[in-house]
Amino acid sequence: MMPRVTENRQQFASDNLAGMCPESAYWFNLANASGHVPAYGDDEWTESVCQAMRELFHADCDVYFVFNGTAANSLALASLCQSYHSVICSHVAHVETDECGGPEFFSNGSKLLVAETADGEDAGKLTPEAVEALILKRKDIHYPKPKVVTLTQTTELGTVYTVEQVRAITDAAKAHGLRVHMDGARFANAVAALGCDPADLTWRAGVDVLCFGGTKNGLPVGEAVVFFDRKLSEDFAYRVKQAGQLASKMRFISAPWLGLLEDDTWLANARHANAMARRLYERLQAIPGVEALRAPEANAVFASLPPGTAQRLREQGWSFYEFIAGGGCRFMCAWDTRPESIDAFAVAIAAAV
Ligand SMILES: *Cc1c(COP(=O)(O)O)cnc(C)c1O
Repeated sequence: MMPRVTENRQQFASDNLAGMCPESAYWFNLANASGHVPAYGDDEWTESVCQAMRELFHADCDVYFVFNGTAANSLALASLCQSYHSVICSHVAHVETDECGGPEFFSNGSKLLVAETADGEDAGKLTPEAVEALILKRKDIHYPKPKVVTLTQTTELGTVYTVEQVRAITDAAKAHGLRVHMDGARFANAVAALGCDPADLTWRAGVDVLCFGGTKNGLPVGEAVVFFDRKLSEDFAYRVKQAGQLASKMRFISAPWLGLLEDDTWLANARHANAMARRLYERLQAIPGVEALRAPEANAVFASLPPGTAQRLREQGWSFYEFIAGGGCRFMCAWDTRPESIDAFAVAIAAAV
């Protein structure tokens, strides 16, 4: 029996619950209409997206496509490290908490060195001081040598590094010979929030490799790994293939990117998601007993709800994560989140309090 197609209620668990945006679906279908084309990325769609990325970043970057963010991060970090190296990240970094040891596995053992990050307005962010302290903590042969700093933009706690903050971290890293990787699963939301040139937030600020998230921005599937320093991408194609991340029908991962990049749809999608988070934040502020932890900078809202509220919301079929110490809930907005969905959710929260 075929599944019934009815549109489900919009949820707030993650921005990867949404489907693909019409622009990426359009290019997906266009790529399909081209019939037989070369496989493994030797097609004109893939070449066009790589060219569009070079224009977007005003740089001769080397671009690869993989199925998901875990692979993008793990393989990018592995390309920057030897097995005896270490990678500095924040204690809430996705690479540390949500990738099942992928970065360590694909690098054959590079250790993640975790820095505690502050609460408050810079929640989830590394600082140059924290990075430097970890770099200088041990200099002896018995400890893995720090080789990479990885930052997440936007962070796992919904904050956004400013260009200056990124620059300060990359300066600290480079002063000690470390490379810098950016987990940009929500890079679009950060660029939309800052209103800056994507080049200013990446290579011009000292980032060597960006994992540019497409999935949460409106693609059906797929992330781009963007190397701003081509020396670092030597043999990366082999890594991607060995990891089982080389799509034979590559055009279906690459072509939808044209829909995001054309007319800056990626930014429009991100701006919309960010605006919906702002709307939810405003709605929550009007509900007694609900405490938003901070004003949203991008598309995540964090709030603490009175005891029992989350449970009651779940019983009514609402889905969201509660993983912040102290019972905070995370509500994510997506490219397609409708204002009415925000309002309905806020009404449900107010009733459940
Ligand atoms: C979603 C996400 C990823 C990618 O996760 P996958 O499920 O492997 O695609 C990576 N980093 C961050 C911060 C994320 O939120």
